[in-house]
Amino acid sequence: MNLNKNYFELKESYLFSTIAKKVNEFTLKNPDKKIIRLGIGDVTLPLCKAVIDAMHKAVDEMSVQTTFRGYGPEQGYEFLKHAVKNYYAEKSVALEDDEIFISDGAKSDLGNILDLFDKNNTVLVPDPVYPVYVDTNVMDGRKIVYINANEENNFLPLPDNSINADIIYICSPNNPTGAVYAKEGLKSWVDYALRNNAIILFDAAYEAFITAEELPRSIYQIDGAKNCAIEFCSFSKTAGFTGTRCGYTVVPKNLGKLNKMWLRRQTTKFNGVPYIVQRGAEAVFSKEGRKEIQENLSYYRENAKIIASTLNECGIKFFGGEFSPYIWLKCPNCMSSWEFFDYLLSNIQVVGTPGEGFGKNGEGFFRLTSFGSKENTQEAMRRLKNLISGS
Ligand code: PLP
Repeated sequence: MNLNKNYFELKESYLFSTIAKKVNEFTLKNPDKKIIRLGIGDVTLPLCKAVIDAMHKAVDEMSVQTTFRGYGPEQGYEFLKHAVKNYYAEKSVALEDDEIFISDGAKSDLGNILDLFDKNNTVLVPDPVYPVYVDTNVMDGRKIVYINANEENNFLPLPDNSINADIIYICSPNNPTGAVYAKEGLKSWVDYALRNNAIILFDAAYEAFITAEELPRSIYQIDGAKNCAIEFCSFSKTAGFTGTRCGYTVVPKNLGKLNKMWLRRQTTKFNGVPYIVQRGAEAVFSKEGRKEIQENLSYYRENAKIIASTLNECGIKFFGGEFSPYIWLKCPNCMSSWEFFDYLLSNIQVVGTPGEGFGKNGEGFFRLTSFGSKENTQEAMRRLKNLISGS
C-alpha cells in the first residue's frame, strides 16, 4: 500500500485554530469581558418557516408507505431541478433539466469535480482565496499558479495572457474580499477561457447577496460561458442551509463529454441528497420562501451597512459589504493582519479573521462578516468607533 503523498504537500491551516487559541487564552485571563465574534462565515438565523413546513410535510410522507421514498435519483429530484431551472430563467439563463445536478453543497462538488480533470492541468487561482480551491488541487498533485487580487485591481483580477491555465477558479461575490465582478470583467475571463481551451469553475455561493440588476449573478449571463464554465451554487448562505446541506452544480451540455462524465461520477460515487432536504430546498423558491429568505438576507445586509458606515466614519478603507456578507478592510496604521487581530481582541474584544490566512495578498487586510446578530454588530462597531477615535 502506498499513500497519496500529495497530502503531505498540504499546508497546515492554522488560521481558525490560532484564532480559537488566542480567544481562549484571552477569555481565561479576562473572564468578565464579552467577546463579539464577527469572524465566522456561518449563518446565524434559523431556517425560514416555508422551508421548515415543507420539511415537516416531507417527514410525514416518509412515515406512510404510499409516499415513502427510498433511494432517489443521484442527480436530484425533478421537482427541485425544475425550481432551479425556473430560478435561472429569471436571470435570463435557459438550462435543461439534465444540466442541473443537486448536491449536498458547493464544497463537495468543488472538490469532486476535479475527478473529471487530468492531473497535468495547470490551475489558476486568485490570491487571496477560499482555501478549498487550493487544497483540493494539492491533494491531486496539480500545478497551481496564482493571480494577484489586490487594492490596485479592487480585488478583481483580470486575465493575464502570458499565463497558460487550464482550470480557472472565479468566486463572485468573493470570499474573503466581498468583491463582485461586473459583466465586462467576467466577459474577459470567458474570452480568455475560450481562447485557451480552459474551463472556468465559477463559485456563485453568494449570488443571492447581489441586488444590483446590472451585476451578473450567474456566469451564464455572459455570452459564451456555456461553452467554458461550470457553475456551483448553494442554499447555505442564501437560505441558511449550512447545517442542512444542499446545493447545485450546472454542467452545460455544450461542454461536451463533461456533462456525461459528471453524471457518471455522481451516479457512481454519490447517492443523492435526502428527500426531506430537497423538499426544504424547493420551498426556498416558493412565494413565501422567497419573501422569508429576503427578510433574512436583508437582516445580514443591514449588518453589513452598519459595519460599512462605521468603517467610513473611522476612515478605514474597505472592500465588499454592499453585495456580499464579507467586509474586507485594510488594517489601519500599516498593522499586519495578526497585529490588528490582537489589537481588536485585547482592546475591544471583537474577533475577525486575519486576511493573511487566505493568501499572501491578504496580509494587511482583515475580514469581518455580517452573519452575526444586529445587536452584536452594533455593539462591536460602537466599540471600534470609540477605540479608533480615542487613539
Ligand atoms: N464556496 C465559498 C466561496 C464559500 O465561502 C463556501 C462556504 O463558506 C462554500 C463554497 C461552501 O458552501 P457549502 O456550504 O454549500 O458547501
